[in-house]
Parts: sequence; structure tokens; C-alpha cells
Amino acid sequence: MKTSFWTRILDLISPRQCVICGERLSVTERALCSSCYLHLPRTSYQFTPYDNPMAQLFWGLAPVSRAAALFFYEPHSEGAQLVYDLKYADRPDIGEDIGRMMAEEMRVAGYLDEVDMIVPVPLSPKRQQQRGYNQSERIAQGIHEVTGLPVYAKALRRKHFHQSQTTLMRHQRQENVAEIFKLGDAKDMEGKHILLVDDVCTTGATLSACARILDSIPRVRISVLTLAFTKS
Ligand SMILES: [Zn+2]
Repeated sequence: MKTSFWTRILDLISPRQCVICGERLSVTERALCSSCYLHLPRTSYQFTPYDNPMAQLFWGLAPVSRAAALFFYEPHSEGAQLVYDLKYADRPDIGEDIGRMMAEEMRVAGYLDEVDMIVPVPLSPKRQQQRGYNQSERIAQGIHEVTGLPVYAKALRRKHFHQSQTTLMRHQRQENVAEIFKLGDAKDMEGKHILLVDDVCTTGATLSACARILDSIPRVRISVLTLAFTKS
């Protein structure tokens, strides 16, 4: 990886720390150290992309071809801390960093073969304004840096703010998110293989809703990739 002159200078003045273990990062590491990255509990779903517990969530619900996540999401784990910091600690750089590392692993496994473009799951305008960035878009940006695949951040739009997901039961969540996405700027997307990207997949409701909207574009194929997957 290329390390800029200024990164080296800043490193001397103010050493950066790993978001998980707090150890000082080397100049080539950006948000988390390679040791913490290696210890995230892998799903390995990229090796069985058409039939795994995550892919099965979409069966009968949404036209999703392949599904994979980098690691299993477990409450109070190191991975959970990483996702929390990415979303709530004003650390968009975590998304880009782990997006790059995830893309390397997925590419080696052939998971990104034939993919034409990346579409991040959008936040509501209000939420994005509060946070200052969309974490899924930052992950997509990291994938772009490794693969060169274009990011279509405006392909989907989130209509309005909705009730918190955590207070709803699973079937309610499915209904709750079904109506909140709409197609945005979908130019040049006909017949393409779209990689839908999000931070965490739990019920699959959000990704299903997005996939169904994207499926209104003629002849598209849709696969999904998330940082983490919550085993039920
Ligand atoms: Zn670490």
C-alpha cells in the first residue's frame, strides 16, 4: 500500500491506534491492526455463495443471487465494537479500511467475479446528516479502491425516517422496511450484476427491500456483501 509523506509525518507527531486493541498502528495500517483483523470470526460464506445461512434468508423473499459476510456479529465482541465505532464514533475511515481488506479476501475467493458495480444501502437524509457519512458507502468506497468497481451511491434512495428496527418483531420489520426505499439514479444499470453492500445483515429485511427495488431494473442480477452477519 502507498503511504503518503503526510501519513508518516502525522504518525510521528500523533501515533494512531487500532480501534479494537488500542495498539499503535504501523504506517501501512489505517484503522485496525492486522492481528485484530485476522481474529474476526470469519463466516467463509464466500466459498458457498449460493447456499449458506445468509443466502437462505433471501429465499422466497428477494432476488438475491450470492450472499456473503466477512465475519459473524456477536454482541459485545471485538467485531461489534468495530461496527459500533464505524457507525457512531465519527470514524468513516474504519469503513474504507475494512472495506479494502474485505475486498481482497472476497476477490481471492472469486466472490466478486462478474460483478459490475457496487450499490451501498442508503441512510435516510436525516440520519446521514446527523452522522456526516453513510457507513455502507464508506465500505463500498474501500471495495472500489481495491477492485476499481464503480460505486452507484445514488441508485437507491431512502424515503423517510422510520421506526427503530430494534423495537420491532421480525415480521414487522419486514413490513416496516418494505416501503422505505425507491429507485434513484439508475442510469446504465440495465443487465448489470449489482453488489449490494451494507454493514450488518441480521434479518435480511433491509437488503431484501433494496434487492426488490433494484430488481425493477431490466435483466439485473443482485448479490449482497456485508461486513457482518448475525447468526440467529
Ligand atoms: Zn488491534
